[in-house]
Parts: sequence; C-alpha cells; structure tokens
Amino acid sequence: MSAIEPRAERNRRTLGLTVLGATGSVGASTLDVAARHGDRYSIFALTAHRSADALRELCVRHQPRYAVLSGLDESSRVRERFAEAGCRCELLFGSKALEEVAASVDSDVVMAAIVGAAGLAPTLAAAAAGKRVLLANKEALVMAGALFMNAVRDAGAELLPIDSEHNAVFQCLPHGVHAKPMLEAVRRILLTASGGPFRSVPLDRLAGVTPDEACAHPNWVMGRKISVDSATMMNKGLEVIEAHWLFDMEPERIEVVIHPQSIIHSLVEYVDGSMIAQLSNPDMRVPIAHALGFPDRIDSGASPLDLGAIGQLSFERPDLGRFPCLALAYAALREGGGAAAVLNAANEIAVESFLAGRLRFTRIPEVIEAALDSVPAGATGDLASVLAADARGRASAVSTVARMMGRAA
Ligand code: NAD
Ligand code: MG
Repeated sequence: MSAIEPRAERNRRTLGLTVLGATGSVGASTLDVAARHGDRYSIFALTAHRSADALRELCVRHQPRYAVLSGLDESSRVRERFAEAGCRCELLFGSKALEEVAASVDSDVVMAAIVGAAGLAPTLAAAAAGKRVLLANKEALVMAGALFMNAVRDAGAELLPIDSEHNAVFQCLPHGVHAKPMLEAVRRILLTASGGPFRSVPLDRLAGVTPDEACAHPNWVMGRKISVDSATMMNKGLEVIEAHWLFDMEPERIEVVIHPQSIIHSLVEYVDGSMIAQLSNPDMRVPIAHALGFPDRIDSGASPLDLGAIGQLSFERPDLGRFPCLALAYAALREGGGAAAVLNAANEIAVESFLAGRLRFTRIPEVIEAALDSVPAGATGDLASVLAADARGRASAVSTVARMMGRAA
C-alpha cells in the first residue's frame, strides 16, 4: 500500500471530499450533491468494502485521487480493471487505507457513510485529524460517544450531523450545537420516526415477516441494515443515543414521536413553549447539501415540498410493546460505559442473522436484551476498551442466535 503524499500543486479553490462508504445509499446521495457543486468540491477519495465493480464505476465518473477497497487484499487484476476502465486514481487495499485517506492533508471534508461498527476507526481518524466530519455512520457515535466527542474537541474538528433527524435538530438550534446558552433554553428534543413498514401490521404477523418486507420502508430508500433497524425502531434507539452525544442532552430530554409522513425531520422545544421544526421531502440529499454547504445554503437537487399536496401531518406516541428495541436503547444509554457498544454489536449480529434468514424478526430484541443482561458493560475510556465491549456484545449475540437456531431445529 502506498503512503499518501500531499499534492504539491493542490487546487485550493475547491475542498477535497472523501466519501467513506461511497457505494452505499448515503454515498450515492453525497456524490450526487457534490457533483452539482464542482466549484466547491473535488473528490479526493472514494471507498467501498468489497464491491469493486461499483467503486470502479464511481471512479470513472468522479475521478477521485484515491480509491480504497477496504475488504480486499492487494490485487493486480483489480488494478488492471480499474486502469482499463479509464480510472486515473491510485487504488489502495485494506482497512488501514480508510484511516489514511480520511486523515490525509488533502482531505478537507470527510463523509462518514460506512455502515456499522466498521466505520468507527476511520471516522475517529478523520476527527482526530481535525477534519470537517459529516456524520452519517451513527453506530460510531453510539459505540464510542465520549471518545469520539473528545477527539472532535481536542483536534478542533467540525462535526455536522447527516442523519436527517440530527441534521434537523442542528438546524433548529440557531447558534449551532456548541452554543451552551441556547442549549440551556432547550426543554426537549423531539426525534420523529416514521414507524417503519410494521407500524400497523398486526402483532401476531411480526414473527413471520421476511427480510424484503422489513427492507420495504414506506418513505426512505436506504441500505438493508438501517432499513431493518427502522422496522424494529432500533434505528430510533441508536438516534436517541446519537442525539445525547451530539447535543449534550440527558435521555429524559430526548423524546421520540411517530410521524408516519416523514416530512418533519425533528423538532426542538424551548422553555418558552416554542417548538421549531425542520421540514423537507424525505430525501437524504437535503441534510447532505446542508452539511456540504454549511454555513451557506446550496442546491440539493431534492424536489420542493408541496404542503398542499401532502394535506395532513400526523403524530402518535411510540408503542414500546411493538418496538422493544427503543426501550433497550434508552436502557443502554442510561447504563453508560460500554452498554451502548454492546447493544450496537448485538444488534448488528441480530440484524445480519435476520437478513440471512437465520433469525425471526421478533427475536432481534431478544438477542440484544440477552447481551445487555449477560455481558459486563465495562468502561470505554479508549478505543481498545470500546472494541472489547463490541467484541463481548458480538460473542454473546452469536451464541444466543446459535441457541435459538438449535431450538428452532
Ligand atoms: P449501505 O449499506 O447502502 O452502504 C454502506 C457502505 O459502507 C458501502 O459503501 C459499503 O461498501 C461500505 N461498507 C460496508 N461494510 C463495510 C466494512 N466492513 N468496512 C468498510 N466499509 C464497509 O448503507 P447506507 O444506508 O448508506 O448507510 C450508511 C450509514 O449511514 C449507516 O451508518 C446508516 O445508519 C447511516 N444513515 C443512512 C441513511 C440512509 O438514508 N441510507 C440515513 C441516515 C443515516
Ligand atoms: Mg435518521
């Protein structure tokens, strides 16, 4: 693997953008917005795990300086295919290269859009290098909230939320996330949730739902892991933990409200009783354009909101009986230490098992609860202890899933 050298004749008129997880759903939306603003951004690096063909196509179109295949070993055949397709980029292999491109001096802005715990190390590397970090990879913050926020502060990095709810909250806090006086005037943060595809499906049908049904989100098109998280509402649970770290809010001041239309992306309530909301069509290019342009406003390509056509916005309280994952996430947040890392790890194993057809949908919360009950949360002062909590959560979930499969056989 070659070391990353700073570019001597760097074009200082544009910012270098690195997209970690470029072949995913958020990656695609990011490249769509960035391509509309070639005057602001040039693509420095694009990464994918193993999907070489998809990454090669993106490299042909966006001509980054580096491309990374983090889940593949060095391969001259893959190199040749990139060159034959007309890619001028330098191709790097292995997971360490993610950290190298994220922290490179020519990488000004890093979109963290890898899914799951695998995103932690490169996102942390970007924060520790003082980058502007656009955070979609919520799992990184859930696992290592204190560590991550300390790295951002110590390095003077700039953290902008991409998750639509957190981006909405950020927009509803007039003086930005770091304005302590404004935060004291905030009574509550309300995170909206669509309720996913199973909000009103009869409870006795849930045990038999298929991965494709779980991934058919009513309002958003997303990767399969977050789609399942939305169906269990673990996604909202992870977002409660994410909001705690981003906005320095106690769990009691973070509420979840079901809003099936996904038009209001979240709200902030102030002590005077005012509530400020951010609205848009459910299109990730809106929060992405907000963060890519910040503090300016730039075109996202999303279609404008037609309130007359929408007609009605509705709200309801979440049903914790239907969505036990939400309560588990609050419990892990209150417990502190490594509990959220254990929760996240067990969830990743449970979702993977469900998607592979090895676990029933309704078993997902049971696997996570078993991990939280049986695994010591431990402290999470450094990356090694976060990764140790993650490993304990994974091991517990793997053995619970195996036990459940044995029982089912
Ligand atoms: P996705 O599955 O569509 O894409 C994931 C990307 O990560 C791909 O580029 C893949 O190659 C890469 N990747 C997967 N495993 C990897 C590994 N082990 N190491 C390195 N790279 C790996 O996912 P997505 O829906 O784009 O979501 C990405 C992140 O953004 C998730 O954390 C998700 O929770 C968050 N998010 C997504 C949306 C959305 O609308 N899709 C909205 C809010 C937040
Ligand atoms: Mg979200």
